[in-house]
Amino acid sequence: MIYLDHAAATPVDSRVLRAMEPYFTDDFFNPSAAYLPAKKVAADYEKAKGVIAHAIGAKASDLVITAGATEANNLAFTAILDGQISHSAPRPAGPSARAAGAKSRAAALRNAPSQDICPVLFLATEHDSVRRVAEHYGGKSISVLPNGLIDLNDLRAKITDETELISVALVNNELGTIQPLAEISSIIKEIKLDRMKRGIKRQLLLHSDASQALNLLDINVARLGVDLMTLNSAKIYGPKGIGALYVSHDAKLKPLSYGGGQEKGLRSGTENVPGVVGFAKAVELAKDHLNGNRKKYAAWRKMLLAELQGHELINKKHVLDNFVVICYNGVDAERLVFLLEEKGVYVSTGAACAASKGIRSHVLKAIGLSDEQIAGSLRLTLGETNTEQQIHQVAEIINSAVKTEYDRIRA
Ligand code: PLP
Repeated sequence: MIYLDHAAATPVDSRVLRAMEPYFTDDFFNPSAAYLPAKKVAADYEKAKGVIAHAIGAKASDLVITAGATEANNLAFTAILDGQISHSAPRPAGPSARAAGAKSRAAALRNAPSQDICPVLFLATEHDSVRRVAEHYGGKSISVLPNGLIDLNDLRAKITDETELISVALVNNELGTIQPLAEISSIIKEIKLDRMKRGIKRQLLLHSDASQALNLLDINVARLGVDLMTLNSAKIYGPKGIGALYVSHDAKLKPLSYGGGQEKGLRSGTENVPGVVGFAKAVELAKDHLNGNRKKYAAWRKMLLAELQGHELINKKHVLDNFVVICYNGVDAERLVFLLEEKGVYVSTGAACAASKGIRSHVLKAIGLSDEQIAGSLRLTLGETNTEQQIHQVAEIINSAVKTEYDRIRA
């Protein structure tokens, strides 16, 4: 097998698995319990959170652990905006006390001119776990340029006095594009200052989904100027179903779930200790190998692009080194995926969840690709299961599969 879909899933590193194991068996205690072994588990949990937080320049108390990035992304929106009206879908039923407090605000929004009712902005290329929840709150999308980077003019134009939350992923999951978060946050700072001068008290927060970024980028929340950041263990050789939302002190959140008051009362429920310990180990390993891995993937990317034939490179610049998106005009990439699978090569046509539903990529559309280009696009994401020899092999296998496809089309 040659696996080139590391943006969809990564195998759990054996060292991560070893670190997790005791917490399934010997150290199974509920961290909230009063006896000593449970207190030790609680301390290990906090320590693991500290490792994850430290990797982004934050403290354990700044993190809310979630069941994956989807939940963290949703938490960023629902916890801030719950109670606001949706323009495209009915508002979900929430606890009645919260709904009552929000009614007057929702009514005010309903009476405002429609172009001003926009509490949320999100980048057009965001993952569905951001896009769907943002749309639910009536969010508007910010355009991207053909190179996949945010259109900063469009960002400025779309921020209104109603805007409370702006969501821009640090690394896009289909193209690997790295967004200029520091530049975005300095624009937001300017706007906040202007609001202050005009006596407008509404908060304006920057959220970033960094699901794809943690194993190859050195992240610091203060340097990037983000208020909220989503992290994902599943993409960095940690266990699936574990993620985190970084929440700066400025962001006031409402709970996602009510119960025992875990995670600062924002997400009640018994802590997933093995998951968090595994996540922390994966973070530690990622940090240790950050520079080496970037160099390795950059070299492999160059090698692969030099050996592949007849393709058009889609993600040329400002991308994470392990993302290669190529397009074969006139070819159906979904057929290529099947042909390659027959040869033991696993690749993707776009985000795994969208691809499995046969939905064309909204990301490739947003950067202005034609339907034909979108239909012929493959996403190859390099990772720790690969070797240099595999890169040479895969170039040969893809070239041959593409030739077979072109021959079939011609015939
Ligand atoms: N955000 C991005 C950028 C992703 O790539 C993914 C996973 O594909 C997610 C969010 C969702 O992660 P999960 O399915 O682990 O909740």
